[in-house]
Amino acid sequence: MKSDQVVARARKLSRPYRITQGSTFRLKDFNPDDTGEFTVEDKPRAVSALQSGVEALTKLQDVLYASDRWSVLLIFQAMDAAGKDSSIKHVMSGVNPQGCEVHSFKAPTSEELDHDFMWRCMTRLPQRGRIGIFNRSYYEEVLVVRVHEAILRSQKLPPALVTKRIFKDRCEDIRNIERYLARNGVAICKFYLHVSKKKQKERLLERIEKPEKNWKVSAADAGERAYWDGYMTAYEEAIQRTATGDAPWYVVPADHKWFTRLVVASAVVETIAALDLRYPEVDAAKRKELVRAKRALLGSP
Ligand code: ATP
Ligand code: MG
Repeated sequence: MKSDQVVARARKLSRPYRITQGSTFRLKDFNPDDTGEFTVEDKPRAVSALQSGVEALTKLQDVLYASDRWSVLLIFQAMDAAGKDSSIKHVMSGVNPQGCEVHSFKAPTSEELDHDFMWRCMTRLPQRGRIGIFNRSYYEEVLVVRVHEAILRSQKLPPALVTKRIFKDRCEDIRNIERYLARNGVAICKFYLHVSKKKQKERLLERIEKPEKNWKVSAADAGERAYWDGYMTAYEEAIQRTATGDAPWYVVPADHKWFTRLVVASAVVETIAALDLRYPEVDAAKRKELVRAKRALLGSP
């Protein structure tokens, strides 16, 4: 398949899940079990489409790196076991590690708590020409911190600043910072991997049953399920308040991992392709230099 066909297909596959305007967004309109145009029997066709997407991404990343102007920031947020890690692994399997960095953000350290909430993420933004992946991010500040207000109290903020509006204000700050980044050449794509509570239970149980997956699960994961509805409200409002044309959210169905990966890969392909990048032009001076280099190489032993 030609590369412009792959890009057109990527666009078609990812668009239904792309949110650029939060005001009309409702989480209930998105089904975690959705597999788009594919039935479960079509899985091999989806896997082959993912393969073409990954190959397209390899080429797009090469131009991104060579042109050295834009950077790409991919943010992954989700409930536990929604498939963040495996999506990152599959989608980035064709990417040159030299041009890509993944950062996972856990509960903040004491050094991080001595700074504003954006600080730790801002120090890890991708350089021009690179892809940066945030496995969780500053969005945790309006998600887990909102669901567990005790975390907010441990954040060392001046008490007068801890108001009822704090999460709304944080979303406004996030929106402004993302606009600032976009204006500086950072193409941002945010993924919420939307898994159902039932599928999460299955996957957590599987992690307990399979010894090689035991390391991934903790008692706290089961406990967090009690806060499910609170998380859903927090995700819905965070997406409503921060989905913009500069930094769209993709609400990706996550009950079928093969489809999740395909939608994520498609969104990344579409985002980089839309930058319309070119390899740097070779000017007359550079061309002369290349001719000299060729002559020297041919004349050498
Ligand atoms: P998996 O899906 O495999 O469990 P994970 O991303 O959940 O991966 P963990 O090590 O299980 O990785 O969890 C990281 C934890 O850190 C999450 O529960 C997340 O909510 C928490 N966390 C991240 N950022 C913050 C923050 N700013 N404040 C408090 N907790 C945070
Ligand atoms: Mg976890």
